[in-house]
Amino acid sequence: MSTSPPILSPLFLIIILTLTPPLSSSPQPPTTCIIGSGIGGASVAHFLRRHSHTGPIHIFERNDVVGGRMATVTIAGNTFEAGASILHPKNYHAVNFTKMLSLKVKSDDSDESVSLGIWNGNGFVFKTIEWNSRFSWLRSIVGIVNSVRVLLRYGVSLFKMNRFVEVTVDSFLKYYQPFESRPVFGTVEEMLKWAGLYNLTTRTLHEELIDAGLSYLLIQELATVITRINYGQSVSISGLAGAVSLAGSGGGLWAVEGGNWQMAAGLINRSDVALHMGEEIESISYVGSAYELNSTIGNSYKCDVTVVATPLDELNISFNPKISIPDRKLQHTHATFIRGLWNPAYFGLNYVADIPELVGTIENSDIPFTCISILKKHSEKDMTYKMFSRQPMTDALLDQIFSVRNETIRIDWGAYPHYHSPEKFAPFMLDDIHLYYVNAFENAASTMETSAVAAENIARLIISRASSEPPSISSDNVTSGFIRSDLHSDL
Ligand SMILES: Cc1cc2nc3c(=O)[nH]c(=O)nc-3n(C[C@H](O)[C@H](O)[C@H](O)COP(=O)(O)OP(=O)(O)OC[C@H]3O[C@@H](n4cnc5c(N)ncnc54)[C@H](O)[C@@H]3O)c2cc1C
Repeated sequence: MSTSPPILSPLFLIIILTLTPPLSSSPQPPTTCIIGSGIGGASVAHFLRRHSHTGPIHIFERNDVVGGRMATVTIAGNTFEAGASILHPKNYHAVNFTKMLSLKVKSDDSDESVSLGIWNGNGFVFKTIEWNSRFSWLRSIVGIVNSVRVLLRYGVSLFKMNRFVEVTVDSFLKYYQPFESRPVFGTVEEMLKWAGLYNLTTRTLHEELIDAGLSYLLIQELATVITRINYGQSVSISGLAGAVSLAGSGGGLWAVEGGNWQMAAGLINRSDVALHMGEEIESISYVGSAYELNSTIGNSYKCDVTVVATPLDELNISFNPKISIPDRKLQHTHATFIRGLWNPAYFGLNYVADIPELVGTIENSDIPFTCISILKKHSEKDMTYKMFSRQPMTDALLDQIFSVRNETIRIDWGAYPHYHSPEKFAPFMLDDIHLYYVNAFENAASTMETSAVAAENIARLIISRASSEPPSISSDNVTSGFIRSDLHSDL
């Protein structure tokens, strides 16, 4: 079987400007350099401009495409999300970006019911029924039957789980409050405490769900299936990452037609940014009055403010002076895309039609994948599948699960943090000058929206601190991690 590298989205062309020489303290507006063109880096640029930041902004991206973990894959002529695929209806920054950029929302394919099966390695412990009819009343009945089946298996625990998610989402909504009532946060801990979310990072999802009165069966099956799909991890992730993961399994989920990466591309395009594609930053040194950034292609840049908008955990950027962040690991998710047909015998079944369209799994080290879903049915014998696993899928394994494989694409994502409880957070401010870290917030939860929320705070932090001299933050400027509200009138 052939294995080819991922074909990612087309490059969004943006003019690459020549860098201006080092900017000294005043009276020039400061030069800001952002490392990473994902939704985090793109949002920092956007929010800086919205807060009237007039200085030059440079974004460095080591790849030849923008968007980072928002990327598409093309398999046999069809394009699908390869990384971040779904957005929650209350992801208000993403909703606003999509409207502002006139992007199209991918409509929910409500005409087709998706059947779910929970695979335990030997059989399906739970299956919803599938019946695609052209009559909407029949589809409604199938929906009701499935709801009853889920209710019969998990009982009132389902409502308790929904309540747990709703309460967490409501707390998260505080991050959209107007600036007058929302402080600028100097640390991730304070940002989470202010919204009432911090305690959820000190305990596991399992502990939280037990306290919320959920049954062991629901935690072991449904909740585990969801955390494995969304974060490739078990219910021992932190309660907050878990709640965010469970929220990603509700109704009203959406995506950007043609690829979510267009949000980052659009934000960069309208933020008057000098974008340096294919340029990896290998060192960041503070040289007295500014940061010197050196790239692997031999260029050197001077920046008054530097923002790291990518996880540092697996990167080799050298910092001078050295920075201190907790030792963290990324969870790797191997995404395998297959055009072909799965093998019912692998699941102990006789017919392909008997295999649910979304196969979720419980924790069992013998199961080689975390989930498989049908992305598109080209015909009854020809489908495109997406499979997530913790380890790479070998050809031998794939040949057991699929009877036909016409095309296979593999992507190894350093996907999201490996979550713990109690969670340890890196600082938003990597030094006491102007070196910032957006992805410190990712250890709370990793989503497109949380990146945008963290990016907005970083933009406010930069402006707030830049307007107060000297830049180093003193205990007078920070009250329990909040920047004094009188530092900048807009903030
Ligand atoms: C398989 C998968 C599924 C996911 N599903 C969802 C989902 O359904 N919904 C959701 O909301 N989220 C999902 N996520 C999480 C989401 O993708 C991330 O939380 C979010 O995209 C992170 O954005 P970011 O800008 O912070 O980082 P990234 O998107 O990782 O961007 C960082 C950028 O920095 C660049 N870079 C790194 N080092 C350097 C350097 N030294 N010099 C220059 N450039 C550099 C990288 O190339 C990258 O483009 C998923 C993630 C994965 C991997």
